[in-house]
Amino acid sequence: MAQKVLIVDDQKGIRKLLEELFKKEGLDVMVAADGREAISMVEGYVPDIILMDVKMPNMNGLEAAQEILRINQNIPIVMMTAYGETEVVKKALEIGVKKYITKPFDIVVVRDMVKEILG
Ligand SMILES: [Mg+2]
Repeated sequence: MAQKVLIVDDQKGIRKLLEELFKKEGLDVMVAADGREAISMVEGYVPDIILMDVKMPNMNGLEAAQEILRINQNIPIVMMTAYGETEVVKKALEIGVKKYITKPFDIVVVRDMVKEILG
């Protein structure tokens, strides 16, 4: 069975870009546009990895990551942060987020990071 990735970002272009990238890698891809949507998805669909944006409406990525890790602490989460968000990165790692990547990112770097985490 294909490994599952959940992409969470309020920007449609980023969701599309990452969706295409991981589908090409043979992964099963799900997308969510904000933190609340991501949480409700995780309740029914357990992803093998989550790529999570920080700045989103309704619920931001940090709050969503915290809630998801409360539901299932084994899901690796990669935070997609903006340049200079050092406090966010610090907090994210404290709550158990596995890794972070700074936007704008090179898709090859994202792909390799995800592959490495998935093993
Ligand atoms: Mg955003």
